[in-house]
Amino acid sequence: MSDTASLHHHLRGTAASAGVAVGRAVVVHPAWSEDAELPPPRGGVDIETERFRNAQRVVADELEGVADRAREESPTLSSILDTHQMIVTDPVLSSDIVERIASGVSSEAAIVHEFERQRRTLLASTNSMFRDRVHDLDHMKHQLLVALRTGAVAPRRDGGSIVVAEIVSPHDMLSDHQLGVSGYVMKFGGIDAHASIIARDFGIPTVVGVHDAMTAIRDGDMVIVDGTQGIVICNPDDATRSRYEEICRQQQLLRDSLDSGSTGPVHTVDGCRITLEANIDVPDQVPVAVRLGAEGVGLVRTEMMISSLNAIPSTDDQIAWYGRICQGANTNAVTFRVFDLGSDKVDTGASYVEDNPALGLRGIRFLLAQPEILREQIMALLHVAGNHSVRCMLPMISTLDELLKAREIIDECRQDFIRRHGNCPDLPLGIMIETPAAALSADALSAYADFFSIGTNDLTQYTLAVDRTNGLVSDVIDSLHPAVLRLISMTVSAARGAGIPVTVCGEMAAQAGALDLLVGLGVSGVSVSSFQLHDVRRRIGQVNCSEARAMVHTALACRTAAEVVECLRQYDESARGGMA
Ligand code: PEP
Ligand code: MG
Repeated sequence: MSDTASLHHHLRGTAASAGVAVGRAVVVHPAWSEDAELPPPRGGVDIETERFRNAQRVVADELEGVADRAREESPTLSSILDTHQMIVTDPVLSSDIVERIASGVSSEAAIVHEFERQRRTLLASTNSMFRDRVHDLDHMKHQLLVALRTGAVAPRRDGGSIVVAEIVSPHDMLSDHQLGVSGYVMKFGGIDAHASIIARDFGIPTVVGVHDAMTAIRDGDMVIVDGTQGIVICNPDDATRSRYEEICRQQQLLRDSLDSGSTGPVHTVDGCRITLEANIDVPDQVPVAVRLGAEGVGLVRTEMMISSLNAIPSTDDQIAWYGRICQGANTNAVTFRVFDLGSDKVDTGASYVEDNPALGLRGIRFLLAQPEILREQIMALLHVAGNHSVRCMLPMISTLDELLKAREIIDECRQDFIRRHGNCPDLPLGIMIETPAAALSADALSAYADFFSIGTNDLTQYTLAVDRTNGLVSDVIDSLHPAVLRLISMTVSAARGAGIPVTVCGEMAAQAGALDLLVGLGVSGVSVSSFQLHDVRRRIGQVNCSEARAMVHTALACRTAAEVVECLRQYDESARGGMA
């Protein structure tokens, strides 16, 4: 709903990451693709050529600056940036673009068509090294197009900016975090899409599914993001703005006070021990998580490292990255999930196109198709496991065969490690239970896994056949659906039978009401975003384990998610009645 054209108007969306942010909008428009309508030339050939040369200079200068910094931090990143520089300044590519401009098209059209031609050539190559360059090429095309439009490499995101975009990639979110971006408004995206999860991990207020975000908000508008209520207020009046700025101040005070919050083992009110760990995307988040009371790291999304580098990192870069995470965790155990690539995650720059990537070469399937990537990652994890308590976890297992094949590769890595170093550290191997097939065959899988971690985001997506990234069906996706609860229950029984721990690292663990269900179902621990640790710790302390178990019997017999919600409401009411 919008009141007036540019003054104080409200937009509604889905609350994806709680909290409030107030700042200036940076609207990020998507770059053109080959089949989109490209703009006509703005002037004659000389003017268009000059526009292209300027854009080229802007991108090359920026790359040079970043590459200097990267040389000290990461050899892999630095070599990628060198490749980007080579592409942007390549004399043959430049003269081909200038030649196209001379034929009367705009700089945009010349860039898009020439880069697409190069792309097709690379994809047709039999050499995988060349095919791998496609991703770099796409990235540079995007940067040149942005530079043409704005005169800068990317929109001016900085401390306090509110980024408004159709969807934000994990790669951009990682750099936004370093820049201090304070809020997101996205046109697309569901509550459990990875963009939303990363926003929660960084504690950045976010509203997704704001359909008219790209037209109703203009660059430089003053914007309030209310990620708790799912509201965006554009150009607020003075009273509204001061009210929200006050909420921001209170929010900051609360965060500062949490920093010195409670730590140590967590128990329910009747003494059941529940482990409380944190989900992590980048090393910087680990000390924060430990300060906020995490007993360990229950999930490191290692694919985020690929997102930062835009490439599969070398073994040395991996060892450095994992080492930083372990150092931040002090003596606490860290669970590294091997790369979960594909679907809405990280762009692998793959040479194939999948019509249905969520059901395609994702997670363990991708790694088994490219076992060298898995091998290098396991070798890097074995390196850090020598000095820290480290666990390894496999994503998206759906068959026993996948688990056995992965184990075989990991065993070979162990042998290789022993040959090189004379011994091999302990590296417990667990699996994510996030497909219905894995939950339904959890008893078979439990014989070959040291632990289970239930990924309720994907388990819900695949059980209800509903895309977690698609805002149009966000009312269907519901982890409280009895079908999901029954799969969790089967998983817990199988784990108990095998005597292995079973935890939950999906977003359900922090969902209001769901914690009692999970404890009642018998999970031994949860892993949540850092900024949810405090609240989840407090709520675990209020759960009565035996009452939660009794409630779960009723919940499992429900026919719909609505009936489960009603069951939780009654349970909550009687618990509060009991306390009064
Ligand atoms: C999950 O699916 O619940 C999970 C934790 O993994 P991700 O969100 O990274 O897919
Ligand atoms: Mg998952």
